Amino acid sequence: MDENSLLEIIQEREDGILQNELWRVAGIDSRKCSRLVKRLLDKNLVTREAAVSRGSRTYLLRARKGVSFEVESLNPDLKYLIANGEFSPCVGCRRECEPKYCEDLTEWIANLLAEES
Ligand code: SF4
Repeated sequence: MDENSLLEIIQEREDGILQNELWRVAGIDSRKCSRLVKRLLDKNLVTREAAVSRGSRTYLLRARKGVSFEVESLNPDLKYLIANGEFSPCVGCRRECEPKYCEDLTEWIANLLAEES
């Protein structure tokens, strides 16, 4: 099991997967799972939100909708929707939420600000 295989499992779950379920599904121990998840987080391929499952604290992991492209090749108008090589998480998002509390949007805006500075 490597990080790519783990990512595939996460991608199969449209609503995300709890980390304490992920390591069982992947057939690995929780420590190895944490290491692989950290790599996926570092590469910005997944998002992580605190969650509680059966009274235990864990994380809900979701795969980012990856779009691979060269920013320079895009229509200049689209560049305003991109930060750190990623489209705004709101593009194509169907979740219901209050933007003020959306972790994905907050992170994306932080990337946008980091790029500008
Ligand atoms: S604010 Fe968050 S949940 Fe709402 S549309 Fe954007 S990414 Fe989706």
